[in-house]
Amino acid sequence: MTWSFTDEPDHIRLLRDAVCEFVARYMPDQSVREWDRAHHFPPDLWQKVAELGICGLTVEESYGGQGRDLVAAIEELRQAGSFAAGPFIHAAFYGGVNISENGSPEQKEELQPSIARGELLFAYGGPEPAIGGDRASGKTKARLRDDGGPAVSNGAKRWCTGADFADYIICLVNSDADGKRYRNLSFVLVPPGADGVTMTPIEHSHLRYTASSDVTFGDVNGPASAILGGSELWNRGWDVLAGEALEVEKLEISACTLGFARACVEEAWRYAEEREQFGVAIGQHQAVRHALVDVKTKLSACRHMLHHAAWFANERRPCSVESSMPSCSLPRMAWRSRSLVNGCLAPTGCPMHSTWSATCATCSACPSLAGLPTCNATISPTA
Ligand SMILES: Cc1cc2nc3c(=O)[nH]c(=O)nc-3n(C[C@H](O)[C@H](O)[C@H](O)COP(=O)(O)OP(=O)(O)OC[C@H]3O[C@@H](n4cnc5c(N)ncnc54)[C@H](O)[C@@H]3O)c2cc1C
Repeated sequence: MTWSFTDEPDHIRLLRDAVCEFVARYMPDQSVREWDRAHHFPPDLWQKVAELGICGLTVEESYGGQGRDLVAAIEELRQAGSFAAGPFIHAAFYGGVNISENGSPEQKEELQPSIARGELLFAYGGPEPAIGGDRASGKTKARLRDDGGPAVSNGAKRWCTGADFADYIICLVNSDADGKRYRNLSFVLVPPGADGVTMTPIEHSHLRYTASSDVTFGDVNGPASAILGGSELWNRGWDVLAGEALEVEKLEISACTLGFARACVEEAWRYAEEREQFGVAIGQHQAVRHALVDVKTKLSACRHMLHHAAWFANERRPCSVESSMPSCSLPRMAWRSRSLVNGCLAPTGCPMHSTWSATCATCSACPSLAGLPTCNATISPTA
């Protein structure tokens, strides 16, 4: 096998330039701070993201999609927090990737064009109060009614981010009470406003662009078209969960994390060049310089890892290992990048402190971050 490094293709370079310009124009630091304090993304910002035409980057062209990109747009949007990157993920990834990869022909026909225009947002309902990583043990039940539609009942989903603004929750259900493990799961598209759905926001200090909620399902009846992938994917939810969309989910979260870490390091670097102490810029002091160079070097390695995995995914080659590597390494690097800002520079007055210190690098799916006190404080171990 021969290896060669090439520049990013022209269309990705143009995409990065367009998104960077967007961030510079519509997401100035002052606005980001205000959104961060208010803990929500502004709808008019989302409208502008939709107009930028990037929501179709995960949608097939025949349904109105615009090429394919899995990491560049998120990485650039994340330079300014999660206020555009967050909802973008709810449209292009939770919606675009899931429906492209797993939707029935009718679902693609109906939903994909709206997703590409940024008109539909999705939330993901996987974990439950007692179920985190062990998704196959979920207790939220669903059965098929005589008319072929699913009835979801007796369920509670935890950490359902964006359920308050989404058009659909992609809800993982146990669809065969007597079925074998991994052969008893399905996904159902539930509109949050459906009869029987209630939600309660969970107080947390992580994703700053919106709430994450507990969502409960009383007796929620949907049409047959609400089964993700149609009736042939009933009880095949594990294949959906562990399929190609999971690799893309790992890449998308890693791209988000990389964008965050890059923003931290770049800001810290700028500050170290500007701030003078003892007659020189603090970046001239070796201890500070070492810290900056060390993080920047390791971040660059993570970036290569991520782009390598994204290349595999774009080629539609199996990449479970390649996509896991950056998703293990990047949260640690992001944490170190944030520590660089908070621990090393913030005490001296780094302007990044107020913007970023409350912003989580990624979700608690990463073992390195799952134990953070801010996260655990919101979880009752016995709930
Ligand atoms: C702010 C926030 C937003 C979220 N938004 C969403 C969302 O929109 N949609 C969604 O579906 N999920 C969401 N999640 C949930 C996230 O996907 C889960 O938190 C994740 O699956 C882990 O579950 P858990 O936190 O309950 O940890 P648990 O699974 O209970 O794990 C607790 C700890 O044990 C470790 N552990 C567990 N199993 C093993 C094992 N086999 N080997 C070694 N160690 C193990 C874990 O690494 C972790 O450190 C969100 C979480 C947070 C914090």
